[in-house]
Amino acid sequence: MNPFGFRDRQLFAEDVPVAAIAEQVGTPCYIYSRAAIEARYRAFDAAFGTRAHQVCYAVKANSTLALLNVLVRLGAGFDIVSGGELERVRRAGGDTAKVVFSGVGKTREEMQLALAAGIGCFNVESEPELDQLNEVAGRMGKRAPVALRVNPDVDPATHPYISTGLKESKFGVPIERALAIYQRAQSLPHLQITGVGCHIGSQITDMDPFVDALERVVELVGELGDAGIELEHLDLGGGLGINYRDESPPEPDDYVLAILNRLQGLGSRYQRLRLMIQPGRAIVGNAGVLLARVLYLKLGGVRNFAIVDAGMNDLMRPALYDAWHDIAPVKVDAPRTPRVYDVVGPVCESGDFLGRNRELGIEAGDLLVVASAGAYGMAMSSNYNTRPRAAEVMVDGDRFQVVRRRESLDELLAAESLLPG
Ligand SMILES: *Cc1c(COP(=O)(O)O)cnc(C)c1O
Repeated sequence: MNPFGFRDRQLFAEDVPVAAIAEQVGTPCYIYSRAAIEARYRAFDAAFGTRAHQVCYAVKANSTLALLNVLVRLGAGFDIVSGGELERVRRAGGDTAKVVFSGVGKTREEMQLALAAGIGCFNVESEPELDQLNEVAGRMGKRAPVALRVNPDVDPATHPYISTGLKESKFGVPIERALAIYQRAQSLPHLQITGVGCHIGSQITDMDPFVDALERVVELVGELGDAGIELEHLDLGGGLGINYRDESPPEPDDYVLAILNRLQGLGSRYQRLRLMIQPGRAIVGNAGVLLARVLYLKLGGVRNFAIVDAGMNDLMRPALYDAWHDIAPVKVDAPRTPRVYDVVGPVCESGDFLGRNRELGIEAGDLLVVASAGAYGMAMSSNYNTRPRAAEVMVDGDRFQVVRRRESLDELLAAESLLPG
């Protein structure tokens, strides 16, 4: 479903005119559709049918409490990468038993927090991490549930910054070394081996890399079983792409069915495995837009610039990955001269652009939306140039609510102090 569409020549979010949100909340502002988030989560969840499974939403894609809470109400699990994200899941009312903890740099303190919270699984990414987790759990009189994140060495054919499953990546342990590391883990008294995980990258628009990774992990599950290490779950990570421009990624149900198909016909060792996935972008990416207002048109040079009030500190993806987001005016009812613009923010960096070479019919004061901004938008935003972070709004049918108010300058500066004297 696309919750953002034109009616009577103006853009709506579900049944709310986007211009009405700008009027009440101001710009820049992120707008999310509750129905779109729910539909995507449910599509993943339902596709597993009767097979034991858990969809763990990757919190880092968008960690806003109200958004997490929408997923909590549907029974979601969560993939976290920090103690801060664990706290967000708790405050959103999430079930910590359905939390998996990924990341190459978990600190002792984060391990303690997660053990005390009783999370479902630590996805361990190195041998030293395994040792430290064993030690921390021992001191707390606990046994830590662990899965090894293996690196299956497949090329997801995505941007190098969001490719994580190749041999040279910092993530996971090489799959050839996994058996030996599992055997070590088994000898550590304060660890409980529960599963295996992998995550090969992000914005993957083709099923092949996922199936290749699954093949290799299935093989490993067999080797482990033969060595007396039977697993309870298999976690395939996240990474399913969305449509930003002209991509046609698999739909959630096609993606899940391809996984189920690959496992079909394998022995009981595999049928017992609970399946886990960690989609982030694929749940929230197309459920959000960034709303901005045109401040100035700067015409007549080599290029035309549309300077808007949202910048790279609000949406970093174009600057960081050269990512493409559709940009559209909110109202198309007034006569406007179409021109080709670079749509840029107020931040003092040449990399501060939201889109380049876009044909738009706009004037100063007009509202624009940057599409497909629900994932890695607000979550990656910063205060660069001492810009307070944007407001966030959740639309639900014909109503909307500010779920994070615009940051004030006082809040932004609250942690700072001057030297004495
Ligand atoms: C980033 C990440 C995800 C989510 O990736 P998406 O591309 O947003 O689906 C899932 N699992 C792990 C371990 C990650 O690092």
